[in-house]
Amino acid sequence: MAKKKKGPRQVIGLKCSECKSFNYVTEYNKVNEQLKEQVKNEKTFPLNKYCNVCRKHTSHAVAKKLK
Ligand SMILES: [Zn+2]
Repeated sequence: MAKKKKGPRQVIGLKCSECKSFNYVTEYNKVNEQLKEQVKNEKTFPLNKYCNVCRKHTSHAVAKKLK
C-alpha cells in the first residue's frame, strides 16, 4: 500500500566529493532548508560527513534524489 506523500520532504543521497562514493541517504525538508538559509544565511549542503572509503571527514554533496 503505497500512499503518495505530498509535501516538501525529499529523499536525497549524499556523495563524497573526493571518492564519489555514495555514502548516505537522507531526507530533508525543503522548506526548512530554505528558512534556514534565509535566517542564518548558510546552506546545509554540502555537508561535512565521515566517508568510510576515504576514512575521514569530507564534504558530501547532494546527489540526485532517489526514488
Ligand atoms: Zn570518500
